[in-house]
Amino acid sequence: MIKENIIKILNELPQGVQIVGAAKTRTREELKAAIDAGLVILGENYVQEAEKAFEAIGRVAKWHLIGHLQSNKAKKAVTIFDMIETVDSAKLAKAIDRECGKIGKVMEILIEINSGEEEQKAGVMPDKAVSLVREIAGLGNIRVMGLMTMGPFIEDLELIRPCFQRTRELSEKIRGLNISGIEMKYLSMGMSDSYRIAIEEGANLVRIGTGIFGPRQHR
Ligand SMILES: *Cc1c(COP(=O)(O)O)cnc(C)c1O
Repeated sequence: MIKENIIKILNELPQGVQIVGAAKTRTREELKAAIDAGLVILGENYVQEAEKAFEAIGRVAKWHLIGHLQSNKAKKAVTIFDMIETVDSAKLAKAIDRECGKIGKVMEILIEINSGEEEQKAGVMPDKAVSLVREIAGLGNIRVMGLMTMGPFIEDLELIRPCFQRTRELSEKIRGLNISGIEMKYLSMGMSDSYRIAIEEGANLVRIGTGIFGPRQHR
């Protein structure tokens, strides 16, 4: 089923849109099957889980961190990931920059936007994003490559659309500022139930778990 799902989604995606396979709770065999079927990027929520999967799979896939990162886990994270999609504070950006400096790596990062402006949710508030980007633009071992958002968990998908729209508008605004060292190349938005809407609103990275691997078992 994994293979059929990947092929179906790949065929459906417009040019330039890439899938990040959300790997949480999946076995190595499932992840390998997805890669064999053409998946290029794996998205991990936790550094510890990623570490185990990475040992088994290695660099045949690209590794994106799509869950929240604590600054004290940056050291391990920078050895595994090719992109960290969830940077939402200068403190975290600086920790990643520092650890990358020690190993001579430049990390691509996305700024996570709390596009639903929900209390208690990860991501920087939309009206704070520009100042965050300006603050971290000078860090030499990270490169801001775009924005990521989750959007609220609500039944009515059409209510998520404005959150995607606002995130895209924000990325255009930041691009227009021409801040040195900042590229707005990626927009990571949409999951299994919302990726079609996200693509309509400009996403070029879509994070899909259930749509590839089937329903998650509760552990
Ligand atoms: C699990 C997860 C996804 C994918 O969710 P599905 O509904 O299974 O497609 C996308 N993004 C993040 C950050 C996730 O944790």
